[in-house]
Amino acid sequence: MDRTLLIDTGSARRAGVPLDMVRTVLFTHAHPDHADPQPLLWRQAAQARQGVVGPLEIAGPPAALEVCRDWVAPGDPVTWTPLLAGQERRLASGHQVRALAARHWSHDPHVGPALLYDIDQRLLAAWDTGAPLPPADHPTYEFILLDCNDGLLPGFSEHHNLDAFARTISELRVQQAIDDRTQIVAVSLGCANPPGPELDGILARMGATAPFDGTLLTSSPLGKPKDTGE
Ligand SMILES: [Zn+2]
Repeated sequence: MDRTLLIDTGSARRAGVPLDMVRTVLFTHAHPDHADPQPLLWRQAAQARQGVVGPLEIAGPPAALEVCRDWVAPGDPVTWTPLLAGQERRLASGHQVRALAARHWSHDPHVGPALLYDIDQRLLAAWDTGAPLPPADHPTYEFILLDCNDGLLPGFSEHHNLDAFARTISELRVQQAIDDRTQIVAVSLGCANPPGPELDGILARMGATAPFDGTLLTSSPLGKPKDTGE
């Protein structure tokens, strides 16, 4: 986000996007497909070759921070910001973040407690997995990135399937966290989802999309004309 905030590192290797401007890494939980510490090693390599590595904040649940500590060299200008559900912080990247409880591996202290994030009251990052929003003062979001890992699988496995995805969207609409201008994006898509065109059709009926990895989402501030701000 703005190239200064990276939420989870699990896809950083495949995304092919530059990370040199990242000021804060914000983790949702400590599962390795989300809290991959290897980019911190690349950072050491960049420092050794170019000597240009700047300060970095690592924020998130305590378990995710623990995963990373051994990958940071002594003297590296890294700061640690542990977060729990209900806390709000201004991150070093400049973004205002509110941590929200997730329904995901809450029984395992080595994973989280897993968190969802409200970022600048514009974006709701809600993967692995979902929970009702707090009852008061949430905004209508410009972007909602929502876990749909389980696709057509029945039941709840610490992830949304398509039925749970639809229910969460409906609930967010009732709570006015979503309106017709909100971009609802299905993320964390597992192989139990139907093939692309079929999935696109199902999601379209919910007002959601599933763009390819690496797609740049452009901002359309609520109540303002569409632009390409970020
Ligand atoms: Zn997970």
